Amino acid sequence: MVPGPTLSDVAEPTEAEVVTTAPAIGPTTTVPDAPAASTLAGTDLEILQQKRLRIPIDGTLHAALQPSFDQTRGTGRHEAIDILATRGTPVHAVGAGVVGKLFTSVRGGLTVYQYDPSGMFCYYYAHLDRYAEGLREGQAVGAGDLIGYVGTTGNAPPDTPHLHFAIFRLTEPGRWWKGTPIDPYLALR
Ligand SMILES: [Zn+2]
Repeated sequence: MVPGPTLSDVAEPTEAEVVTTAPAIGPTTTVPDAPAASTLAGTDLEILQQKRLRIPIDGTLHAALQPSFDQTRGTGRHEAIDILATRGTPVHAVGAGVVGKLFTSVRGGLTVYQYDPSGMFCYYYAHLDRYAEGLREGQAVGAGDLIGYVGTTGNAPPDTPHLHFAIFRLTEPGRWWKGTPIDPYLALR
């Protein structure tokens, strides 16, 4: 595996960071005893792979992605993937679902939390320059729908626009800030 883009000195948005900024919820971290990773339909990763999620940036091949899930960013694991793209590049929904939360955080900047149709999984898009016009919470989206544009909001380096993309298995449906991260590099295959 080749090391990811040179962003390793940057603290990225993480679940923990989201938790500290979410209202009225106690501290939490990735839950080791979260719902078992295997179900009748397979592991969470297999379920995601069966969705045949699309890469959120058009023209980016999987072979060009850099795995960085386990890299250290700031005080924790990255638990996401970074896709470098020019500022203003359209960001598309990786799959069908609904916009769960539009949220601005110190590290993630302008972000979208999108639930999958089952409500079990959440797709997280961060450092957006701006949202797609009219995007709103509760809005149904299809795979490939425009949700926003690549930027450097939050703690992204101003000269390195990129999409920070993460996937969580939600601990409870509707709780967009709490879940177990799953490596998008593997899920997007
Ligand atoms: Zn990142």
